[in-house]
Amino acid sequence: MAIKLGIIGSAGRMGRRIATLAQQDENFRITCAVERADHPAQGVDLGELLGLGKLDLAISSKWSAKPDVLIDFTTPQATIEFLAAARKDAVPMVIGTTGLSPEQLATVKDAGKDIAVLQAANMSLGVNLLFRLVGQVAAALGDDYDIEITETHHRFKKDAPSGTALELARQICAATKKDFDSCITHGRSGAEVSRQPGNIGMHARRQGDVVGEHTVAFSTLGETLELTHKAHSRDIFARGALTAAAWIVTQPPGLYDMLDVLGLKK
Ligand code: NAD
Repeated sequence: MAIKLGIIGSAGRMGRRIATLAQQDENFRITCAVERADHPAQGVDLGELLGLGKLDLAISSKWSAKPDVLIDFTTPQATIEFLAAARKDAVPMVIGTTGLSPEQLATVKDAGKDIAVLQAANMSLGVNLLFRLVGQVAAALGDDYDIEITETHHRFKKDAPSGTALELARQICAATKKDFDSCITHGRSGAEVSRQPGNIGMHARRQGDVVGEHTVAFSTLGETLELTHKAHSRDIFARGALTAAAWIVTQPPGLYDMLDVLGLKK
């Protein structure tokens, strides 16, 4: 039987791609499409919004007809609001929204006591493999290799650095026993900003319609090793979100990430 899917942020860049791909996938049936109350798409038929013809499913500001799973790509504030509703009604939730504060992340973790929650800054297989690789490379190369992370995204992206860039740094810190909170240098500007040994440089570029690019560079005197991931379209994240949604409906309460779905957990 098809999984009843609710999409929060359904008129957004990611929401539209998730809805379009879910509509083409017989494993899913979209039963609610949610948008913020003042969005111009309120009341519009989801199929018509997507150019797929009428689906008899109006976009609304609340989810109804209890879905089997929710996918959320919105804003941190909206995510936390909808997570509270999902927790109350025992609906598993896949969270793709980035830029959550430490307090909001703690709320997400706490919800895992009651419902299955999957939160991932990046839903692509390639990036999740990269999460594993950067830790291994950093540990193998050691402290004489300077690490700089550069990410590039489209001009509309709100948060910086990207959730993916922060997760890359977290993975490196975990593998090399660095303290994440004290070892990140965000950009450099000023007269006395020479590189501190062991620090991880973090740089965010915002330009045009770039979907998402991340490079982790390891340099010493004499050589540089770069690991780069480029997303060609949002569909890689949308497909990942749907894979995660299909996976999470069979899981017990807990906090999960894409490494669990992809079987890449250590
Ligand atoms: P977007 O601005 O195009 O879409 C967000 C949508 O959420 C908008 O349509 C907005 O109206 C809606 N929204 C805001 N508040 C709402 C509310 N209270 N109720 C319902 N809907 C609400 O942004 P986007 O490019 O689709 O990205 C959304 C989020 O997903 C960002 O945080 C982005 O960084 C993240 N993202 C994550 C991944 C991943 O793989 N995890 C990939 C791409 C983007």
